[in-house]
Amino acid sequence: MKGDVVVVGCGPAGSLASLEAAKKGLEVLVLEEHNVVGEPDHCAGLVSVSGLKRLGLKVPGECILNKVYGARFISPSGVEFTVRRGTPQALVLDRRAFDRWLASLAHDAGASIILGEKATSLKVEASEVAVTVRSGWEARGKVVIDAEGCRGKIAKLAGLPRPRERIPAVQYELAGADVDRDFVELHFSRTFAPGFFAWVIPTENGARVGLGAVSQPGKRLAAFIRKRGLSDAKIIRKMAGTIITGGPVKRTYTSHIVTVGDVAGQVKQTTGGGVVMGGLCAKMAGQIVADAVLKGDVSRQLVKYQQSWRKFLGREFFYMGLARKVLNKISDKGLNGAFMAIREHGGSEILERYGDMDFEATALKKLLSSPRTLLITIAHLFMVS
Ligand SMILES: Cc1cc2nc3c(=O)[nH]c(=O)nc-3n(C[C@H](O)[C@H](O)[C@H](O)COP(=O)(O)OP(=O)(O)OC[C@H]3O[C@@H](n4cnc5c(N)ncnc54)[C@H](O)[C@@H]3O)c2cc1C
Repeated sequence: MKGDVVVVGCGPAGSLASLEAAKKGLEVLVLEEHNVVGEPDHCAGLVSVSGLKRLGLKVPGECILNKVYGARFISPSGVEFTVRRGTPQALVLDRRAFDRWLASLAHDAGASIILGEKATSLKVEASEVAVTVRSGWEARGKVVIDAEGCRGKIAKLAGLPRPRERIPAVQYELAGADVDRDFVELHFSRTFAPGFFAWVIPTENGARVGLGAVSQPGKRLAAFIRKRGLSDAKIIRKMAGTIITGGPVKRTYTSHIVTVGDVAGQVKQTTGGGVVMGGLCAKMAGQIVADAVLKGDVSRQLVKYQQSWRKFLGREFFYMGLARKVLNKISDKGLNGAFMAIREHGGSEILERYGDMDFEATALKKLLSSPRTLLITIAHLFMVS
């Protein structure tokens, strides 16, 4: 089978890249290893309203389980601060329905989505790339857009780096959980969630409760659910996944291949959210790849993709990477103190005013440029428990 572009993976990044390339008139072949797009899902489904706007997406009602107005941040000892706004800030999505809807947009723009076909090998020739699928046939194109998610097998075959820092996570879907429907909860503790945090995300009639940690996330999640007082809620689904926390990889292109989304590490280091950041990069990739193919100058043009996403998002990834390093180092005692400082010295107001769920650099800088908050936070950062 032959097209202009072969896309590996039909998650959000693959669909958005395909959509852009197909809109520019390219023949796009999308290979998805599963028989149904979006399954199995591995996500909490929290996506900012502003991020979806940046992606140019108007999500249909059937993909939306809830809308939240803000978040509660809770320290190990229960020091809490809340960031809230008067309008919905994030949607809680049914990720399976959302992924299917994105794929339908790509399909309607002309992309051919081939289900149940796993890409297994890659051969770069003079002016084409051949992707072999498990059943034995080849998909050929002038460029491959690798959107395979965090596993990174195709990236490795292409000689491109894969995201190295990753955290295992487990999530339960709870029915009848007694939680505030308007707010997400983020619980931090180096003791019960080392390397990440625990979350409670309200859905239409329950909650997604999850935890990422460097070790034993399942055991730690069960303990967190008891601690949070949610043991009486009914577990209706369990899932596990890998969260990328190390930021973007160094190189995301070769002469004929680009990587987008999780495989390129285009995920917020602070929260593990990758739908918006990966989606923005995927859209750039789709457009730049299409222009390169239309110009007939693929091998020299793909560098523009890396230059573009770095220019647009490099500062964001830099500050979020710093925040992740601090969060990984700080003791529980330090966290309690830092939360107290943020609460008592106007940190919530700074976050409400400047905070953006995806573009966090401005709020992080403002937070640390408030002298009292900065001093107290730094003092607590050096505390060890
Ligand atoms: C527990 C957890 C909670 C999360 N919560 C959030 C959240 O609330 N908000 C948020 O924004 N992000 C969240 N994320 C991150 C988010 O899920 C990812 O960033 C996002 O799904 C990345 O999209 P992608 O298209 O790059 O990859 P994926 O969504 O992983 O899609 C990759 C696709 O490629 C297919 N594929 C893989 N290999 C091949 C192959 N060789 N051949 C063919 N097909 C292949 C896969 O089947 C899959 O369909 C969470 C992640 C985890 C683990």
